Amino acid sequence: MAELSKALRARVRDSVSQLHSALVEFKNVCYANSLGPESMVLTDLIWAGPDAASGALGEIEIFSVDSGRLYPETYDLIERVHRHYGRTLRIYYPKAEQLEGWVGAHGINGFRNGLEQRRGCCSIRKIEPFRRAVSGRSAWITGIRRGQSASRAMAAAIEWDGAHGLHKVSPLLDWTEQEIWEYIRKKRLPYNTLHDSGFPSIGCAPCTRAVEPGADPRSGRWWWERGESRECGLHPRRQVAFAE
Ligand code: SF4
Repeated sequence: MAELSKALRARVRDSVSQLHSALVEFKNVCYANSLGPESMVLTDLIWAGPDAASGALGEIEIFSVDSGRLYPETYDLIERVHRHYGRTLRIYYPKAEQLEGWVGAHGINGFRNGLEQRRGCCSIRKIEPFRRAVSGRSAWITGIRRGQSASRAMAAAIEWDGAHGLHKVSPLLDWTEQEIWEYIRKKRLPYNTLHDSGFPSIGCAPCTRAVEPGADPRSGRWWWERGESRECGLHPRRQVAFAE
């Protein structure tokens, strides 16, 4: 396994330190793993990082939300993460009754009929399971980076997430995309193979497409919408609320 650069080792130390601080300050902390490349880094820091032997970060529960509309490659990744670490991510699913009602009213792909319908689908398939996952927690961890979008550039390492009633901790805010991939490749971590086919940001299959090299990494998400609406509500920017 190749050695990490000095700069990257410093990033790792800083992020691990932030994770420890979050545990000390908030105690009841979970990590919302979005299954993107940043999530592979954070999962490794928590389950196999420099302090893994102490078990201190093992108190952080790692979960993902399965909307039911993910790419087959994303399900393969969940299985490969399991095999790599010998541990399973906790998976939260939408409530069947809510989903059946929504699909009955709007159709299986009704999220294409307008912003309200799209947000309705995200609300049932992503936000409600997310809310259940963080319920009773003091803080949740996210792998967002400032370089991912103009709205995420305004994020702080620790923020009050008023929409969900707990703190949000972002230990990878200052990592660059290159650093994320250097870590993944040098540590030979599992990652979503769609990233090798022009998908820098991957969500549900019907709402994500490949982008041209150099394009805004999030431009393949909800591409038929404009600008600031293109978050699923998990990371609303200050005025708003979850997105991966
Ligand atoms: S990303 Fe698309 S399919 Fe997934 S929950 Fe949102 S609207 Fe529904």
